Amino acid sequence: MAVEARTSDFGGKARVALNDPKLRANFRRAMDGLMSKRAAQFSDKEEWTALRARGAAVRARALARLPELLEQLEAKLTANGVTVHWAETTAEANAVVLEILQKAGARRVIKGKSMVTEEMHLNAHLEANGIRAVESDLGEYIIQLAGQAPSHIVMPCIHMNKVEIAELFAARIEGQPYTENVDELTAAARKALRDRFADADAGISGVNFAVAETGTLVLIENEGNGRLSTTLPPLHIAVTGIEKVLEKLDDVAPLLSLLPRSATGQVVTTYVNMISGPRKPGEKDGPKEVHLVLLDNGRSRVFCDTELADTLRCIRCAACMNHCPVYTRVGGHTYSFTYPGPIGKILTPQIEGLDCAGDQPHASTLCGACAEVCPVQIPIPDLLARLRTEAVHPTSIAVKGGGSGRSLAESLGWGGWTALYSSPLIYRISTRLLGLFGNLMPACTPMLREWTRIRSKPKFAAKSLHELARERGFSNDER
Ligand code: SF4
Repeated sequence: MAVEARTSDFGGKARVALNDPKLRANFRRAMDGLMSKRAAQFSDKEEWTALRARGAAVRARALARLPELLEQLEAKLTANGVTVHWAETTAEANAVVLEILQKAGARRVIKGKSMVTEEMHLNAHLEANGIRAVESDLGEYIIQLAGQAPSHIVMPCIHMNKVEIAELFAARIEGQPYTENVDELTAAARKALRDRFADADAGISGVNFAVAETGTLVLIENEGNGRLSTTLPPLHIAVTGIEKVLEKLDDVAPLLSLLPRSATGQVVTTYVNMISGPRKPGEKDGPKEVHLVLLDNGRSRVFCDTELADTLRCIRCAACMNHCPVYTRVGGHTYSFTYPGPIGKILTPQIEGLDCAGDQPHASTLCGACAEVCPVQIPIPDLLARLRTEAVHPTSIAVKGGGSGRSLAESLGWGGWTALYSSPLIYRISTRLLGLFGNLMPACTPMLREWTRIRSKPKFAAKSLHELARERGFSNDER
């Protein structure tokens, strides 16, 4: 699998993506479909408003008690027979997973879909240590075959069309003839994966919600691969970020009503798995050993900032990216990190640091479409603005790399701008000069070059608004 960059070049990659008509068509088609399916699910505005307020409240209540609930979760899971591990960094989490597998003598691993393990680059780590982890979610399986990273957090191979997948399967699956028939392609993946499920020494999965009250791990999915990965092999390792905890079992229902409807426009996913522990005596299936790895990776730092902590409410539905005018045009790989789109633009700089992901909060028009569709009411544009500020004027030690976006040229530019707007006299002289001479400025001057690259040159008005108002008698300003 392609390993993500530790720094991003969003602008450069976006330019490449915008010039790729196939990629743009793939995304446009997919995102239009997802947006209309979601809109059909939430046609009753009153229901939507009430439900998302409930979802936001459930998540906010859990986060308000996060340390306490995590301890309760650990105690309940331990009592249920699950071994709980804590990892502060992705390196620690990788080491924990590897150690569990090595202790069990596991060489073959089947994986359910998990964005946290993408964040850890777990597959690459296991492979480097002689353990082959096969992705069993169809989308993840496809991108694993292609050697790529996911481009979407719910539909990882959404950037590919069926012709590309047909070519990939014919090239990478032994004995697979070329076909563009979607049912035949799905059957080919199913056939290839069946044996992997049966052979696997261990299964690894993510977690959608972890219920502290009962010590229950909730996993939702459509393909049954999650259930097979967590019940067939003798060992199951679940991996999750610490923020996924919920207070009570009753809290799961409103979130289950929001997540699939927001994500894929489904009323409910085909499978809702609730795992409370390993197989008990007399039970016919289930793993003999279950582990949960709780990953921090900067989340407790985010938790310490009362405003930015809203980021942790996310239930990874992807509605924000499906509706984002930037994501839908450039696709997920442009972001360079595990989480693309609006949630990535606020989460990535906080967990990776503004010093290496500082351009992410700027990859937004601040149009607010993401906040309008977010089922847990995360104020994404406000958090983007806050992170942009933190990049130049750090106010909180909770933000890693704060102040790293400062540059002398920008400081001088904004200093000049402040001086201009603080003095009415200088402001009037400069706007007068622009009115008189601005139109003589060639489009290629540094001030206009970026703007005029894809737009016509703005025409400066000969008279300022104040002058026009005075002429028409709207102003008492006699200066
Ligand atoms: S930020 Fe909101 S809309 Fe985006 S993935 Fe998270 S929950 Fe879904």
